[in-house]
Amino acid sequence: MGLEQKIKEANTTEVGIRFVNTRNRTIAEFAKDDALSMTQELEILRGDLVSILYEEVKEGTEFHFGDSIEALTQNDEGALVKFKSGLESNFDLVIIAEGIGSKTRQLVFGNEVQFRYLGIYTAYFTAPKAATDSEWARWCNATDGIVFLIRPDNHGTTKACVNFRVPERGYEKIPIQEQKQLLIDKIKHVAWEAPRLIEAIRQSDDFYMERLSQVKATHWHHGRVAMIGDASYCVTPIGGVGTDLAITGAYVIAGELSKNHDYQQAFKAYENQLRPYVTKVQKLPPGVPRLVYPKSKTGVAILNFFFSLARSKPVKFVLKMLGKNKKQPKQQLQLPDYW
Ligand SMILES: Cc1cc2nc3c(=O)[nH]c(=O)nc-3n(C[C@H](O)[C@H](O)[C@H](O)COP(=O)(O)OP(=O)(O)OC[C@H]3O[C@@H](n4cnc5c(N)ncnc54)[C@H](O)[C@@H]3O)c2cc1C
Repeated sequence: MGLEQKIKEANTTEVGIRFVNTRNRTIAEFAKDDALSMTQELEILRGDLVSILYEEVKEGTEFHFGDSIEALTQNDEGALVKFKSGLESNFDLVIIAEGIGSKTRQLVFGNEVQFRYLGIYTAYFTAPKAATDSEWARWCNATDGIVFLIRPDNHGTTKACVNFRVPERGYEKIPIQEQKQLLIDKIKHVAWEAPRLIEAIRQSDDFYMERLSQVKATHWHHGRVAMIGDASYCVTPIGGVGTDLAITGAYVIAGELSKNHDYQQAFKAYENQLRPYVTKVQKLPPGVPRLVYPKSKTGVAILNFFFSLARSKPVKFVLKMLGKNKKQPKQQLQLPDYW
């Protein structure tokens, strides 16, 4: 699409990740090219990526912001869609890209779609930059299954993420002010940078809380409707690659529709191409995420000890080897060249 340069320019500038203890001492660090580094070759904020894509297509595409689908029926002629605004229209095809909480998915696929809750809630918000923030992301484990993750952005602020282990409680459905208070109560006992983060939570206008659940759908298409991205196969941030999969899904479904006259064949080919890769990335290593969210003081100390081992020369050597393997093409999804 000719967007590579723009995307590179919007890089968050993150150079790697540091694991720190609650006294902010670095226990281990992994630069961008280390095997275990969470930092990828290219890091971009979701909002920046969306803006770049929107600017590119807005002239030739009709957007209806603030509207949503209320009813959908399909027959041989097309899919009749009724919107909340009262608008009604007939479409050849409908592609659902509504993320994990998709309502249109419910209308078309009903209870066919399963959620696998991973036992973690995540909260995400923007915080003012502090003196301790740098181009390194910081990961800090605290007791009670809490993990803080602080990452640089390219807007002069810091992105903060607080994850915590808890049985499914429906927190994502309660009002934002209550979500904020719940999180503040959860982290207020932590010595680390909790006071500063609590202030940021209070002030934040982009606060977001969600349970981490994978989405597993038996089918990704039904008649004239198909799903892509998190709506269809959410991996969660723990599995990673969610954005890659959303963009890849859009690329493959568009590619298959452009080369197949029969949309059913195109939808089938899209699913056949992507499903094996999605199945692979949705498989989490044993003990993940539970093991990296210890509840007790001893558990946190043991985990930090394991992180510190990664600093030793032999372990660094093994990680380097793993890093090389990680970049082997067989591990990656091979994308067809449609154009
Ligand atoms: C805290 C957090 C950190 C993450 N970090 C990473 C990461 O580092 N790397 C990575 O690759 N992935 C990451 N992910 C995952 C990634 O954000 C998602 O996989 C990706 O955004 C999925 O894209 P999507 O387009 O399918 O859905 P979304 O990005 O969720 O977009 C769906 C859109 O549809 C809109 N919508 C919803 N319902 C309706 C409706 N009924 N009608 C109209 N519009 C609707 C929503 O408002 C939204 O704009 C992270 C996720 C979270 C929560």
